[in-house]
Amino acid sequence: MAALIETESVKRYYASSSWLQRLLLLRANEIQAVDGVTLRIDEGEIVGLVGESGCGKTTLGWLLAGLVQPTEGAVRYRGRSLASIDTETRKKIQLLFQYPRESLNPRHNVRTILSYPIRKMGYMAHTEITARLHSLLDMVGLPAHYADRYSFQLSGGELQRVALARTLALEPEFIVCDEPTSAVDMNVKVQILKLLSDISREKGISLLFISHDLSAVRFIADRICVMYLGKVVEQAPARQLFEHPHHPYTMALLDAIADLDPESTRKASLQGQPPSPLAPPAGCRFHPRCAYQEQVGSICRQRGPHLQPLSTDHHVRCFLYPENGQNIALVQ
Ligand code: SF4
Repeated sequence: MAALIETESVKRYYASSSWLQRLLLLRANEIQAVDGVTLRIDEGEIVGLVGESGCGKTTLGWLLAGLVQPTEGAVRYRGRSLASIDTETRKKIQLLFQYPRESLNPRHNVRTILSYPIRKMGYMAHTEITARLHSLLDMVGLPAHYADRYSFQLSGGELQRVALARTLALEPEFIVCDEPTSAVDMNVKVQILKLLSDISREKGISLLFISHDLSAVRFIADRICVMYLGKVVEQAPARQLFEHPHHPYTMALLDAIADLDPESTRKASLQGQPPSPLAPPAGCRFHPRCAYQEQVGSICRQRGPHLQPLSTDHHVRCFLYPENGQNIALVQ
């Protein structure tokens, strides 16, 4: 099956905004936000993208949405370069933002907010626009009279539903959801996740669900991609990743969740903060925080591992799992 959207060895570097860093580091003044990511998302698939703040997940989402251009590598939509697709096809790729209150005009009511993208889809009579508007509100679980409300009259969950309706008005095939549940409480989070999942399944819309919240990603994603300092370190089907994580970073993230569970006997093993993407560590980028690097040896500090298949759908970037299947930690 052909990918709906994919990246191939995509990189996005930003120049540092600090004059001091530019002065001191001379050429090494680029922030490597995304550094060689190859990822595919199939039709109707929900891919979760997780990692700590600053790992590059939002930049990767922006690359897939065409909001920023790659420094190197390619982004393709239905096999065509994203940079070359026409405006009509471009509408098929949409973004759902983290803070809907900031993305909805407070001077417009919901009717005006939703009518604008509906009209962009082509000429419609007034009655057709109203019918489409009510259908969109129904799709996101809001009654028709909400069309007359303004954003200040809506709760956080209702705002996110209106933002989703506005996104759906353009009949997208792919939505980048950037932390859409981070600003709402637990009940609303579950409702939004269920709504996104149902709409994706019903309409065959693919989602990239970006979050630092592993429980949200576990709920919604078919497949999960874990990023650390600009690189994908592990990707696998959701259940497999949660039940059999292989990369030490993924294991540490999962241990951190287990640590919040008072009945869990597992200990959180993720220490410290990620290093600056302006000066990532040599070798494996995770080595300063890795509980396994002493066991594996100096190779972790000398060169970076490649992303390698453990099976057809499970890939990991770590010297614990070299290509020939031998475990370095065991053979040294
Ligand atoms: Fe840890 Fe080495 Fe694997 Fe990196 S390559 S995650 S430092 S064991």
